[in-house]
Amino acid sequence: MKNMSIFTHIIMQPTTMCNLHCQYCYLPDRDKVEMMTKEVSEAIAKSISETDYPICLVWHGGEPLAAGSKLFQELVDPFRSLLDKKKVRHSIQSNGTLINQQWCDFFQKEKFQIGVSLDGNESHNSNRVTITGIPAFAKIMKGISLLKQNNLPFSVIATVNPKNIGDPFSFYEFFSSLGCNSLNINIEEKEGFNRYNQGPQEKDVKDFWKKLFDVWRENPIIKIREFDMALGYIASTLNPDKNLGNKRYARGFWPTIAYNGDVVVISPEFISVNEDERSRFVIGNVLEKPLHQIVYESQNVWYVKDFFEGVKKCKSSCSYYAFCGGGQASNKYFELGNIAGTETTHCRNSRKLVMDSILESF
Ligand code: SF4
Repeated sequence: MKNMSIFTHIIMQPTTMCNLHCQYCYLPDRDKVEMMTKEVSEAIAKSISETDYPICLVWHGGEPLAAGSKLFQELVDPFRSLLDKKKVRHSIQSNGTLINQQWCDFFQKEKFQIGVSLDGNESHNSNRVTITGIPAFAKIMKGISLLKQNNLPFSVIATVNPKNIGDPFSFYEFFSSLGCNSLNINIEEKEGFNRYNQGPQEKDVKDFWKKLFDVWRENPIIKIREFDMALGYIASTLNPDKNLGNKRYARGFWPTIAYNGDVVVISPEFISVNEDERSRFVIGNVLEKPLHQIVYESQNVWYVKDFFEGVKKCKSSCSYYAFCGGGQASNKYFELGNIAGTETTHCRNSRKLVMDSILESF
């Protein structure tokens, strides 16, 4: 099992808690104070040390910084020698509101790649609020300004929601002058706690992608993940002889480790459902079995088999398959109630309409 490189990323949940209550959030446990223990991160480090390929640890949440700097340092310490040998790299997705100088020093020391969640200018971002409804924008911008003062590069994940979908011009204007090195765009999804939300209309999503692509094309000073993927795919299709890199959405096992060591695979969102539902997806615990063994054995688990069944159907029925790779298990589960299904609103909004909008612009 030593060389079994079936995943390149591990999602770590240092805490379930979040200090914000964004209106589209899908996490049911954001009020609960559950913290990962050092034993869990030690078990992950041991499992990685027994392999011979590099892994990216993605620290996610809740809000990962809500775990506090003392605990976070303890969770990261077991990876020190793996970091020095470049067998591990750390990345974090934060809401940005808790970033202070101490966290910046920590990111520098532990070589973190940083992602901040922000939906645009103050009015675009007004869905991101504290538990008492106070907008988080000023605090996020303060955190970003500290990252910049410390020369810490950062990317942004922006959620497209009713507050920003109609205004792609100022959306791009804001991000192109923010100082982020790349922008990743998620169209608001129906999942977890947020699964009963209507979500945006397809025509509004298409209009958003078209206008955003036009304005980006005039001044492409930041990388937008969705355009990068689609344009890279188009270029590699038009130039099959040149090695232009793999610009297709990749599938992977994406093991996600809950605060208590429980493991789900395929979609990190399966850890963020209520307790009863979660028990359908947890396939082991790293305190009882090595992570690589748990993931290896997951190939026989019901939802993993269902997912690959769905991917097979996508392959035979969808003309976007070569670019998309067969979609996300969590979207199929939350939208269709069937992980072995095919088309979802998510795949239309985030794969098909991106590609269509770009092709129609040429
Ligand atoms: S675009 Fe949708 S239907 Fe097509 S391959 Fe992707 S997930 Fe499947």
